[in-house]
Amino acid sequence: MIRCVRCGQCRSVCPVFLVKKVESDSTRGRVTLIRALLEGEISFSEELGEKVWQCLLCHSCSQECPSGVQVEKIILAARSKMAELRGLPFSKKVLIQGLLPNLKSLSKLMALGRFLQSFGGKEVPGGYWLPSFSLPLFSSRVLPRLNSRSLFQMVPSEAPFIPRPKGRAVFYAGCMLAYGYPRTGKAVVEVLYYNGIEVVIPPDQVCCGLPALASGHRETFTRLREANLRVLKRVKADGIVTACPSCGSTLKEYYSSELQAKIFDFSEFLVAADFKPPDREWKSVVTYHDPCHLRKAQKVVRPPRRILASIPGIKFKEAADPGRCCGFGGTFGLYYPGLSREIGRARAGSLLDTGAEAVVTSCPGCMLQLADSLYRQQSTVPVRHLAEVLAEAYGFHKPLTAKEVVRPG
Ligand code: SF4
Ligand code: SF4
Repeated sequence: MIRCVRCGQCRSVCPVFLVKKVESDSTRGRVTLIRALLEGEISFSEELGEKVWQCLLCHSCSQECPSGVQVEKIILAARSKMAELRGLPFSKKVLIQGLLPNLKSLSKLMALGRFLQSFGGKEVPGGYWLPSFSLPLFSSRVLPRLNSRSLFQMVPSEAPFIPRPKGRAVFYAGCMLAYGYPRTGKAVVEVLYYNGIEVVIPPDQVCCGLPALASGHRETFTRLREANLRVLKRVKADGIVTACPSCGSTLKEYYSSELQAKIFDFSEFLVAADFKPPDREWKSVVTYHDPCHLRKAQKVVRPPRRILASIPGIKFKEAADPGRCCGFGGTFGLYYPGLSREIGRARAGSLLDTGAEAVVTSCPGCMLQLADSLYRQQSTVPVRHLAEVLAEAYGFHKPLTAKEVVRPG
């Protein structure tokens, strides 16, 4: 924090500032306020608390900062202090302390969600659903149509025997791919298997803990991290693969240093394993949305593009502003839906400007946000995870039909 020279360069990339245009809602503003608070120049207020919460932890500012200020670390420390002094708000308490430590309860919540989805709301093609009634925290957002089975029920915990495997990977799925998008999780496993990689999916893995860390609840985060470390250290493998960049960056940055070198994004692992280029055509003009936790936190930029370029028939169009945040930000999208939507609208606009017929990304959170943002712009362009596109190009995943693409109505 002391290294911040208040140059304001970070303001040009902070998605919250770009919408609100208020200095105290910029990176520099937040850092200055937190510093003034710690030095006793100002006292804590609800308004100040909001400034600390209204950050997506997107790493855009840290990447841009000439002084190397790690803004997310400052925000996380401030949130942790706030949670310690004032406790968590009730809804966060339920989510962080009640739900996250127990994936079985998440499973039950998904069953309840499926039940609710059968009652009301509108089918949105592409496997999404728009509630017609108000849901706490979800305020009429397009949501994935929930599956009756989780990823753990869809794929065996050890993929079938491969005679001469190229390698062995543990798949750390994370909550979103295990429960919200199990079809995508299944595509990850199938692609790895097709490339000669043995895959182990420990069913006792738990949430990576990022929602707890981002909310300032370090105790829950530590409990989840310890539980995952016990599971991940047990399996002998060449790498731990994630297809959710938020999980990946949390594991790389906040888990044990001994494990760090073994954690790979799906795209990184495949490129390192010299993946087979597909034979089938995926004839489409495609653009790629970089998840912040992949591009800025993990610096993984080329591998997903290299995989897309290997698919015959794909015409790749880069957006004018690669790296622009989509506005999801985990619980940010739930607590600040208006702001999140505004940021999402700008991102969807720049992706649509490429003329793409499909938006590909590597993050289930970005998929959720972009599906909502594109739908609200009356767009029919589908959003796909890189693993699904590759699985389709290999020919073992059913492509979306024309009826299934996102259509507003
Ligand atoms: S955080 Fe970095 S970029 Fe932003 S004002 Fe401070 S020194 Fe400048
Ligand atoms: S992490 Fe993102 S939202 Fe937060 S201050 Fe930095 S640029 Fe703005």
